[in-house]
Amino acid sequence: MAGFPHRMSKGAILVSGGAGYIGSHTVRMLAEEAGYQVVVLDNLVFGHRDALVSEGVTFVEADISDEVAVEEIFSTYDIDGVVHFAAFCFVGESVTDPLKYYANNTAAPMTLLKAMRNHGCDKFILSSTCATYGDPQKIPMTESHPQQPINPYGHSKLMLERILKDCDGAYGLRSVRLRYFNASGCSLDGLIGEDHEPETHLIPNVLRAVKGEIGSVSVFGNDYPTADGTCIRDYVHVVDLARAHVSALNYLESGGESFSCNLGTGKGASVKEVIDAAEAVTGKSVPLEFGERREGDPPELIADPSLAKQLLGWEAEITDIKKIIETAWCWMNGAQGGKYRD
Ligand code: UDP
Repeated sequence: MAGFPHRMSKGAILVSGGAGYIGSHTVRMLAEEAGYQVVVLDNLVFGHRDALVSEGVTFVEADISDEVAVEEIFSTYDIDGVVHFAAFCFVGESVTDPLKYYANNTAAPMTLLKAMRNHGCDKFILSSTCATYGDPQKIPMTESHPQQPINPYGHSKLMLERILKDCDGAYGLRSVRLRYFNASGCSLDGLIGEDHEPETHLIPNVLRAVKGEIGSVSVFGNDYPTADGTCIRDYVHVVDLARAHVSALNYLESGGESFSCNLGTGKGASVKEVIDAAEAVTGKSVPLEFGERREGDPPELIADPSLAKQLLGWEAEITDIKKIIETAWCWMNGAQGGKYRD
């Protein structure tokens, strides 16, 4: 349990969407390093049962909107806090089917909040996103940046942030809303990783192209106003993200007040730099083509992560893009025989 303080309460932590990408890494850290009893609620629409690798983790296969299942969890286990990941995250799909996003990302978590209220559980950690800011007006972005999302995905998360603020004011239900920048990488031992279907993210697609699983990776625009013409993003390692959730829980357990904060490294890498780093890590060239800009992609997104450091004592440790890609490559090649597909 190195690195984390002694548990202050004995209850269990409910992790919704705990079989997904960031969820599964957080479950592992909560269970294996921080000594929590963990109950995972996941409908396995995008999650993977095999991503739950820690002993002693309870798994409930159900949807977060299933009031009966949620109530049963709260009546069976002494749930002391909720870490909420379960959400849809495809920006393009949110534009073509906004109701799907508002139903799942905004309305469905009400079930969790109602159960928390009924059972006196007052700690909630939200997986939120820099997409709640919309187009950047100033880089790096601080938490006081205006929140004007440019797609329903960002709106669906921003509304949940708003609901959480109101729940604090009305019921004393405290929350930490964590706004991730670009989640990336895989567990350091290669046991669990990033397995989206469809996969839209840059790093896994670059590595899939190297492996020949897809013909090539398309670079979405090379005429942006950046040094090399490609978009710059703040890639933050999934293990660092997982640690932030544990720190946020510890913070609320110590009586901390609700707040929202960015999770990023504070530095950016361009698409071209990611590709160069992938070539250095894999020793192979990345088959690529230059395509059109993807709609809604701002040239640059970089976090100012200083609030997370100030309030949670958190800062990203794995900040070298090559190291991040190395962990993803290790998992994709099943270094531990751990790669799952279902
Ligand atoms: N990108 C790209 N080709 C891809 C996927 C992504 O050029 O196949 C670019 C995308 O335009 C963005 C960056 O890579 O500038 C990161 O995109 P990703 O989808 O990984 O994360 P996002 O920033 O959309 O959350």
